[in-house]
Amino acid sequence: MTEQMIPPPLGGCRSAPVLKQRGQREVFCGLTGIIWLHRKMQDAFFLVVGSRTCAHLLQSAAGVMIFAEPRFGTAILEEADLAGLNDAHDELDREVATLLARRPDIRQLFLVGSCPSEVIKLDLNRAAERLTVEYAPKVRVLEYSGSGIETTFTQGEDACLAAMVPVLPKTEARNLVVVGALPDVVEDQMLGLLDGLGIDTVHVLPSRTIESEIAIGPNTVYALTQPFLNETHAALERRGARHLPAPFPMGEEGTTAWLNAIAIEFGVASETFETVTEAPRRRARQAVAQAAQQLNGKSVFFFPDSQLEIPLARFLTRECGMTALEVGSPYIHDAIHGPDLELLAAGPQISEGQDVDLQLDRCREARPDLTVCGLGLANPLEAEGLSTKWAIELVFTPVHFYEQAGDLASLFARPLHRKEILGVAAE
Ligand code: SF4
Repeated sequence: MTEQMIPPPLGGCRSAPVLKQRGQREVFCGLTGIIWLHRKMQDAFFLVVGSRTCAHLLQSAAGVMIFAEPRFGTAILEEADLAGLNDAHDELDREVATLLARRPDIRQLFLVGSCPSEVIKLDLNRAAERLTVEYAPKVRVLEYSGSGIETTFTQGEDACLAAMVPVLPKTEARNLVVVGALPDVVEDQMLGLLDGLGIDTVHVLPSRTIESEIAIGPNTVYALTQPFLNETHAALERRGARHLPAPFPMGEEGTTAWLNAIAIEFGVASETFETVTEAPRRRARQAVAQAAQQLNGKSVFFFPDSQLEIPLARFLTRECGMTALEVGSPYIHDAIHGPDLELLAAGPQISEGQDVDLQLDRCREARPDLTVCGLGLANPLEAEGLSTKWAIELVFTPVHFYEQAGDLASLFARPLHRKEILGVAAE
């Protein structure tokens, strides 16, 4: 439908050998997703069933909310619960009753499992079913796991959305569901672009409130905006919806390709597509070009963390002139990551999973100009003279679609700029 800015590379990375490692990992747990999900879903409450550690993680990551009552909390499992001396289900029922009596604005309640609740095998699924019967139709109660036992932090959002899919109403109507939590301002930009293309039956999962209910059926097509939604993708397929594979909407090229996949599906005329995308594409290209001056010719190494690594590597190499040395991702799913891998020129080591010591050795040997990694690795690597970018910042910052493309490039340029200034100052 539209010309790509740069032709796809002859040998992309889709069929490149993947280094798979399973060893010690350095990641946050899935509870982290509550930080952005509770802002997005205005009538939801996330009740973590966990320990004081879980409560501290949430509180320190979310900061203190001074303007509104928080939409998350922790039902703390005390020693007697962990030792099986109390009936945790009775206690949970009491907590939920108190919460819902005090907060009539809650329409969706998520019981979020944690490491401690999983260790004592507290069956939150049964609890959610029991509480749904008690509080329906006013409140919908669902459960998912945010435990750090086998997850990386973005899996929390995936598990939350996957839990919602089975209870969405059924429809035979043709519709588009855009899947992935985006900041409201970015979501509005995306809806504006789709509206400009003449696509009006669009729903967003997760929606801001339960009222804007999404329906799913055999005539539903869906596009993912986040590359970490493996379980949600599988749950939607089970409901008969069809995935529109595309590169992720990060940077000018990714956004255009993502919109293009939808435009083709809905039979949008090329002229309409050009008219709607021409100006924002130009703005995005200009903004990226400015920020990319700092990035051009530099190398980048990705540790697996946010699961955004593959689309970001595609953006940095194709739009910002960087060279990727290693692109590590916690999980690689061909149906989801394939289109981005196809655009990523052969060369970098693609790795899945982590054995952190071995990966640190590879990083030290490669001496990249920029290392994208989790918070726990950033300071030690900085102390060794490597510039780093915290992967988690990329999830908390608006980075999708045209108007954020320049900011996305700037996020990576900043540590290099800082190093340059410090280098000059030290001379
Ligand atoms: S869920 Fe597990 S990893 Fe996460 S804060 Fe609680 S105890 Fe720690």
